[in-house]
Amino acid sequence: LFIALEGGDGAGKSTQAALLCEALESAGHTVVRTREPGGTPIGEKLRSLVLEHGHGEIDARTEALMFAASRSAHVHQVIVPALERGDVVVCDRFIDSSVAYQGAGRGLGAQAVLDVNLWATDGLRPDLTVLLDVDPAEGRNRRTTGAAAEDRLESEPDVFHASIRAAFLDLARADPARYLVLAASGTPEDLHHSILDALPVVSA
Ligand code: C5P
Repeated sequence: LFIALEGGDGAGKSTQAALLCEALESAGHTVVRTREPGGTPIGEKLRSLVLEHGHGEIDARTEALMFAASRSAHVHQVIVPALERGDVVVCDRFIDSSVAYQGAGRGLGAQAVLDVNLWATDGLRPDLTVLLDVDPAEGRNRRTTGAAAEDRLESEPDVFHASIRAAFLDLARADPARYLVLAASGTPEDLHHSILDALPVVSA
């Protein structure tokens, strides 16, 4: 089972990933928790490079390819082997983040970014994508005060985050069976329970 958590900066993905992994482990599953960009030594280096140099220094296509390269390594070295072992994989961000950030936010186009990433991952898609839908102003507030505040690209205006939010929602609308869309404004506990309700595997 492959579960991805998606949403804008400050949506609470990491908090939900931690709570979800705990619940899955308590239910007896072996869980691999991972994140993108990152998840492998090469992926973590690519993450540092992108965060260090920022959008100003890296053109949009290069950035999109760096994320796709990180994702390819991640899929082939971590995610597919885990799924083959029968583990549950919980991934903080996946292809949808690239479609939203580079496709919409950076203007490369959703379809082009999706195509590059489906090639990079050999077509792997999550079984369930939990989209934490965050209002840009609320996300800004959370990401500038939250624990991970330094690990973020802070310079983008709310309009950039609004385009990202719309792109995530478009992806969810196009494939409703594979998505659980939740308003990120809910309490962490409520969000956690809504996610568990969508996952019969937890009580297995
Ligand atoms: O996962 P996390 O929120 O820590 O992401 C780190 C940074 O990378 C964030 O600032 C996010 O906006 C950015 N990002 C991006 N494009 C992606 C994925 C993440 O610009 N495809």
